Amino acid sequence: MANKSEKKVPAVFFDRDGTLNVDTGYLHEKEKLQWMPEAREAVKLVNDKGYLAIVITNQSGVARGMFGEKAVRDLHAYMNEELEKIGAHLDGFYYCPHHPEAAVPEYRKDCDCRKPKSGLISAACKDFDIDLGQSLMVGDSPRDVACAERAGVRGVLYKGGSLLELVDFLISAPDTGAGA
Ligand SMILES: [Mg+2]
Ligand SMILES: [Zn+2]
Repeated sequence: MANKSEKKVPAVFFDRDGTLNVDTGYLHEKEKLQWMPEAREAVKLVNDKGYLAIVITNQSGVARGMFGEKAVRDLHAYMNEELEKIGAHLDGFYYCPHHPEAAVPEYRKDCDCRKPKSGLISAACKDFDIDLGQSLMVGDSPRDVACAERAGVRGVLYKGGSLLELVDFLISAPDTGAGA
């Protein structure tokens, strides 16, 4: 999937819970997946505009012993199956399974990848040649915005409503740096 020989591509980094899907609390069962309003369409727009669509998500439920990494990966595969129905896809999924006070010893650490730290964006940059200056991150928590800023990416707080409208506004606006 990754191709370092091409020129740099911008990305839209999406938080997962509360941004792409309804945050039902430690979601790990595909039966419980509910998309946020026009979230799938937002991903499709990102695909169609030539941006990478990448998920950046804290999944401390793994560290808390509530579910395993396989459940996380299976849910992500299912999200892409659902997106495929409208011709959309997420290019990458980066998750942090850690927590500093985890119940599960192997995941108990003060890692670099738990948002607001930016390790997951760095990991994505190892797999894809991303133009961070033209990228943005959308999430429903100030932690997402902080993560973006640490990575040198524009962070935008999503306050609910149509995710498509927000993303359309953000990536269709002329790239003039106006307002700065
Ligand atoms: Mg969230
Ligand atoms: Zn981590």
